[in-house]
Amino acid sequence: MGRVYNFSAGPAVLPEEVLKEAADEMLDYQGTGMSVMEMSHRGSTFQKILNTAEADLRELMGIPDSYKVLFLQGGASLQFAMLPMNLMKNRSADFILTGQWSKKAYQEASKYGKANVIASSEDRTFSYIPDCRDLPVSKDADYVYICENNTIYGTKYKELPDTKGKILVADVSSCFLSEPVDVTKYGVLYGGVQKNIGPAGVVIVIIREDLITDDVLPGTPTMMKYQTHADAGSLYNTPPAYGIYICGKVFQWLKRKGGLAAMKAYNEKKAAILYDYLDQSRMFHGTVEKKDRSLMNVPFVTGDQELDARFVKEAEAAGLVSLKGHRTVGGMRASIYNAMPIEGVEALTRFMKKFEEENG
Ligand SMILES: *Cc1c(COP(=O)(O)O)cnc(C)c1O
Repeated sequence: MGRVYNFSAGPAVLPEEVLKEAADEMLDYQGTGMSVMEMSHRGSTFQKILNTAEADLRELMGIPDSYKVLFLQGGASLQFAMLPMNLMKNRSADFILTGQWSKKAYQEASKYGKANVIASSEDRTFSYIPDCRDLPVSKDADYVYICENNTIYGTKYKELPDTKGKILVADVSSCFLSEPVDVTKYGVLYGGVQKNIGPAGVVIVIIREDLITDDVLPGTPTMMKYQTHADAGSLYNTPPAYGIYICGKVFQWLKRKGGLAAMKAYNEKKAAILYDYLDQSRMFHGTVEKKDRSLMNVPFVTGDQELDARFVKEAEAAGLVSLKGHRTVGGMRASIYNAMPIEGVEALTRFMKKFEEENG
């Protein structure tokens, strides 16, 4: 069996070139006689892998020297606690709820201080991004938190909220490296890499240096302090070495592809194929407000659960896999991250068209 078109929301499709390179280097990484999985994280070979990965990420995103890049573990979800433990000096933070991930971050932060909901789109199943031009930002808020691309619901902020001078913290898990970004607008941006960059187990935190202090909440474990990892160059303990190595390969792949501006153009082209089809289909409908549509995650429904289920099953048989939507939205979701080739999106829309003709 050949490779399928994998529309999974995460862990998700990786560039075939990267997987092939990794396969070639599996038994003997560059003459070391061993796999990257087997070597010391304190050795010069791994140090070079880590340094190159960081340098390439800095180049891709234009990360200023005043920001630290940390390769950590625990997934995006551990950041839900790590952020308040490190940043909630006044024990207050503002949250914009645009889906399950921001809600989970908000609930976790509530354990450490006052978490305030200053805007939400929960009233309509998170199918839009709230108007964020004049938010009731709390005077004592240590930061304002958003989830920039909502993996489950398929919305994305097209403009960052006006935080009225407060630090902006963003979960960018599912839009990481999908388009150019102005890092200086954020205090912290972070993401689990299994959506758009690499294998599960690595979370990348990009944090302004002045936010890394010893002044953390009492009882914060050593492993949960940003300072611990910043001081040790992400090598305080054994890092997720193999995962970092694959992330590094994806960064190099992105550079070969022309960087984030080229990626954005490619992603827009891919998403347009699917959205244009949805907008004229009589059977399939997108579930979110057009102005807030994500380039990465595209949920759609027929309005008939049985038909949805049949579509997912028949698509899978045709090599278009993991299209089942999240249970809170139902229907289908096509995640079309950086590594999804345009041919995959074309194959999906062709299949939808055929399905509509046969069942409409
Ligand atoms: C998948 C996802 C998470 C959770 O990531 P884990 O690494 O499983 O903790 C958090 N936020 C967003 C936006 C996600 O897409």
